[in-house]
Amino acid sequence: MGDTSLYDQKLLECTRKRDVDKLNFLQSLDKKILKSQLERILKNDKTVWGELFLPKWMTWEMLKSWSAKYEKPETICVFCGSDAEGGKKVRGKIVCQNCIVEIKAE
Ligand SMILES: [Zn+2]
Repeated sequence: MGDTSLYDQKLLECTRKRDVDKLNFLQSLDKKILKSQLERILKNDKTVWGELFLPKWMTWEMLKSWSAKYEKPETICVFCGSDAEGGKKVRGKIVCQNCIVEIKAE
């Protein structure tokens, strides 16, 4: 269970304690937080915190943990912009197989 996120842990905890209010709140976060706000959370932009009306028990770490569910994996090749699924990460950037072949050929 080491991979369970903070958010999931809290969900489990609230389920066990039958804390329905918190559970409902956590499960409806995606309806409470705007897409633009979600993007800022993903970028670790803490200024968004002041705009959100969250209960005191909610922490930034938990919010980050929740937002991670919506993080899109990087699958666009940095060189040609095509789908790089199955490609390789080069210095933190994803590169498709075609471009890897081209780079190697040079
Ligand atoms: Zn490419």
